[in-house]
Amino acid sequence: DAPPPTATAITPMPAGVQTNVPLEPPPNAESCNATESLRPPARMPAPGRMPPRSSMGEIVAHGRLIVGLDIGSNLFSFRDPMSGDIKGFDVDLAREITRAIFNDPGRVEFRVLSSAERIEALKTGAVDVVVKTMSITCERLREVSFSSPYYVASQRILALKESGITGPEKLAGKRVCSARGATSIGRIQSIQPRAHLISTTTWADCLVLLQQGQVDAVTTDDAILAGLAAQDPWVQVVGPSLGEEYYGVGIPHGKDDLVRFVNGVLERIRADGTWWRMYNQWLTVLGDSGGYGPPLVTYRD
Ligand code: GLU
Repeated sequence: DAPPPTATAITPMPAGVQTNVPLEPPPNAESCNATESLRPPARMPAPGRMPPRSSMGEIVAHGRLIVGLDIGSNLFSFRDPMSGDIKGFDVDLAREITRAIFNDPGRVEFRVLSSAERIEALKTGAVDVVVKTMSITCERLREVSFSSPYYVASQRILALKESGITGPEKLAGKRVCSARGATSIGRIQSIQPRAHLISTTTWADCLVLLQQGQVDAVTTDDAILAGLAAQDPWVQVVGPSLGEEYYGVGIPHGKDDLVRFVNGVLERIRADGTWWRMYNQWLTVLGDSGGYGPPLVTYRD
């Protein structure tokens, strides 16, 4: 047994922590074939030459592509403490979409969104697209559209090394953190109904709760957990995949031309090596686990 701590302190919870997390259904992407998206146009408009009467033309008219993302998801979108820049795999993808529209990757404006704010921001038009580790699900498709999948993650568990937590069966009676609005909550509730869920605004808050001993584990996509683990040598990702999550670019309903255009950009990124360049820059810590390589895509017309 570990010796008792030599010093203790009362640590406040991060703002926005919720301990009465309502029950949610697990995410579902199969019943509606959620990852099938609209076929790209036969000919993509050249960068910087968007048809004026298109959703891309409207974006050109307002001068910038407004992208909703997060700054607390290390590896996908986070603020680099040294430079102050927002960086990561999702940020690079957002810049590629921007380059395809404006012929200039700098014409992008980031709006910080929590997981729970993504759908509303698309519905109100506060952002043009969401590029934030956003899983394509049948429930979400009722409210927003998605590009084809650009990444496959697997939900897993993050815990302290030596905690004895090795998989979902060990989470009975334990406090488990997830960000509000994430698909991770419904899935863990269905797999381990005896876990006590605690929800936060951001993934970074879940790491703080784990470090402060206020939760026993964090659960979400391996891609995000790996980014948290990279910030703390005492934590590790454990257990099997609890289910796959297909990330898509979120786009408001009624903008099918933009969905097709983004799918054309994703085609190009997969074909010309950009996808692997982005993967090798940000995600090599994930090794050849889970969704290694760009996902296969299927289209409808
Ligand atoms: N992929 C999951 C989701 O879209 C978790 C990631 C997140 O919330 O940022 O809900």
